[in-house]
Amino acid sequence: MRGRRSVRVAEGGYLRELLQSGVLRTSPLIAAFERIDRAAFIPASVRDAAALNIPLPIGHAQTISQPWTVAFMLEALQPQPGDAVLDVGSGSGWATALLADLVGPRGHVYAIERIPALRAFGERNVLRAGLRNVTFATGDGSRGWPAAAPFQRIHVAAAAPRAVPEPLKEQLAVGGRLIIPVGEWTQTLVLVTRKDPEQFTERRYPDFQFVPLVSDHESSPA
Ligand code: SAM
Repeated sequence: MRGRRSVRVAEGGYLRELLQSGVLRTSPLIAAFERIDRAAFIPASVRDAAALNIPLPIGHAQTISQPWTVAFMLEALQPQPGDAVLDVGSGSGWATALLADLVGPRGHVYAIERIPALRAFGERNVLRAGLRNVTFATGDGSRGWPAAAPFQRIHVAAAAPRAVPEPLKEQLAVGGRLIIPVGEWTQTLVLVTRKDPEQFTERRYPDFQFVPLVSDHESSPA
């Protein structure tokens, strides 16, 4: 897998490896990765491995993503101060916290997670990190969050089996960016930019691996 190729036991932790590999390269993102410590977002049982550039279990058969992959997605997404961001599959809350740090107090992150216990875990971790510009919900994020749309950025951390879900494209602001893995066995990261109300462009980055985006037809948050 694209991200896995760069795995090695990091001397000085994943941050040094992300910087050396060049995947983490823009100043606001570097500062966010320095401020938001991944160790505070994982269960105590795997905390010894927090500094490694590998995915780690967070319970309920789910993982916190590999730091390389999170850096790659956020560099492609380039969240800006003041943005409204939808984060689908908030899990541990680590990527949510990075997004909240990047959009700052004028921005807001809407974080949705389908597993109630993980939603609570992520919310607790984000609050402990001192971030107050996040609203959490439990539900099926493949339907988006219509009441909070449009979003300048949409970050999806689980793989849609066949295509980018239409509700997510509909809820993207004009000029906005959406990143999502698509595919069943291995995935391509698809970066969608909404050029105008009717026109979307796509860039594709192959060879990633994510847990599936499970569409359970629960209602979206009101
Ligand atoms: N960003 C997370 C983190 O930093 O820990 C990544 C967690 S994991 C790779 C992806 C998450 O997506 C899992 O917690 C999973 O339960 C969640 N998920 C899967 N399908 C979903 C859906 N339809 N709506 C919301 N969350 C979903």
